Amino acid sequence: MTNRVYNFFPGPATLPLSVLKEIQDGLLDFQGTGMSVMEISHRSKEFEAVVTEAESLMKELLNIPDTYRILFLQGGASSQFSMIPMNFLPEGSTADYIVTGSFAEKALEEAVKIGNTHIAATSKDTNYDYIPDLNRIELSSNPAYVHITSNNTIFGTQWAKLPNFGDAPIMADMSSDILSRPFDVKPFGLIYAGAQKNLGPSGVTVVIIREDLLARVPKTLPSMLRYDIHAKNNSLYNTPPSLSIYAVMLVMRWLKGLGGLAVMEKMNQEKAALVYDAIDNSNGFYRGHAQKGSRSLMNVTFRLPSEELEKKFASEATQAGLVGVKGHRSVGGMRTSIYNAMPREGCQALADFMKEFQRVNG
Ligand SMILES: *Cc1c(COP(=O)(O)O)cnc(C)c1O
Repeated sequence: MTNRVYNFFPGPATLPLSVLKEIQDGLLDFQGTGMSVMEISHRSKEFEAVVTEAESLMKELLNIPDTYRILFLQGGASSQFSMIPMNFLPEGSTADYIVTGSFAEKALEEAVKIGNTHIAATSKDTNYDYIPDLNRIELSSNPAYVHITSNNTIFGTQWAKLPNFGDAPIMADMSSDILSRPFDVKPFGLIYAGAQKNLGPSGVTVVIIREDLLARVPKTLPSMLRYDIHAKNNSLYNTPPSLSIYAVMLVMRWLKGLGGLAVMEKMNQEKAALVYDAIDNSNGFYRGHAQKGSRSLMNVTFRLPSEELEKKFASEATQAGLVGVKGHRSVGGMRTSIYNAMPREGCQALADFMKEFQRVNG
């Protein structure tokens, strides 16, 4: 494994090496079937066991009550932007959106096509560098749901503490921080996450949904867009992305083996501190995009004194085996994604590189 690099790409993103090796080991002969997991029927007992274990690991890691269902869907987090209002925004009601970044904007855009929406808060005024304070959020009188984005992958902000809006169920896009820390699932009606940031490879989207909501799904929707149909069929209504689900299951086994989400959260805090300290101790050479109280533990965004230096930073980082550090065009500068699977050594190597780069170029 000599040519593995530290991969800071935002998604698809780095995976635990041990998981990749497990996939490799089982690739030709999955559990004595003489076939790979990609070649066996999704209705075989071997594959059904994978789905069942993936569901129960998700429930165990997040301490999810039995009043919720776990679904493995396709179409990415982006399909959830439309599925949520199609299923849960009936005529005459209003859905509230807290807009904290580009993906939140896209979620809102889809809901606007379906029904009434209300922007309960937005941080667009300062290019999404913060999460609005709870006392600045103005909900509508009786929202069908409140949509939030727990971690804003592009801007590098994250809800430090997740909200609770009482009776209004929260529908949350957790694509880039699910399973990075423990939290209370009960204020949420639906949680969704495209797997390719913090859960596994692309191709599968995890949905955690409160079971009573399934009764509200309009029967007129196309079957593939109905949560109740997917739930009734245990995510096997049609052929699922078998390999992706298998990989997600292995990633969750790995997380459980590390000690679960409380341990993972502590590791993530320590990893992020290495990078944020390099920013904060740079006398302004590096400037973080996110305001301090809203800093993401998953995506660290920062600028350098000039675009020229930013280009140089990205190219020298790549040469040093630290790849994928270039920021999104809407923020500029750098974005280093340090999801669960990024080892502490990767963050240390990045922090060391940042200090050395500043010493030479500062
Ligand atoms: C990447 C990302 C998406 C888009 O996910 P797709 O699976 O590509 O549709 C949505 N929301 C957030 C927060 C993301 O990070």
